Formats: sequence, structure tokens, C-alpha cells
Amino acid sequence: MAERICRRCLMWENISDKMADYLETYIEGIPEDEKAENQVLEERLKVCKECRHFQEGLCGACGCYVALRAAVKKQKCPYKKW
Ligand code: SF4
Repeated sequence: MAERICRRCLMWENISDKMADYLETYIEGIPEDEKAENQVLEERLKVCKECRHFQEGLCGACGCYVALRAAVKKQKCPYKKW
């Protein structure tokens, strides 16, 4: 079985509980038809987790929280990794 990446764990590194809750709420509020499918999201987050630009839940290339960027279907990695 494929390893699952916890979205919350990705965001968790060095951010407060309050910010993690805020991000979770924000993601939950994304309209369903705009959200990336779970499998797509997990694949994206796995790539980010191994990326040299990934730092403390943020993408050093674009400054986004990767969990937010990856959760939106139409978003893309600035380095075309996904
Ligand atoms: S969005 Fe792209 S550049 Fe940014 S951390 Fe993820 S894989 Fe790396």
C-alpha cells in the first residue's frame, strides 16, 4: 500500500495550532469542484515533502503553504514538479 502523507503534518512543521486550524478551515471551504482529488493531493504533497524548496510547510519558490496550493485542482508547482 502506498505511503499516505498527512496534509496536516505537512503544515504542522513550526506553525502554530491556530494557523494549522485556519489553513484546515480554508481548505475545507474550497468548493468541491475546485479541490484536487485526494490521490492527486497526496501525490503532490509527497513531491513537495522531498523538494529542496520545501521548508516548514511553505514552498520557498512561491511562498505558499504547499497544503493550500496543492489542494486546489488548477494550481501548479512553480517548478513544474506537479
Ligand atoms: S510547489 Fe513545487 S517547488 Fe514548491 S515545494 Fe512543492 S514541489 Fe517544490
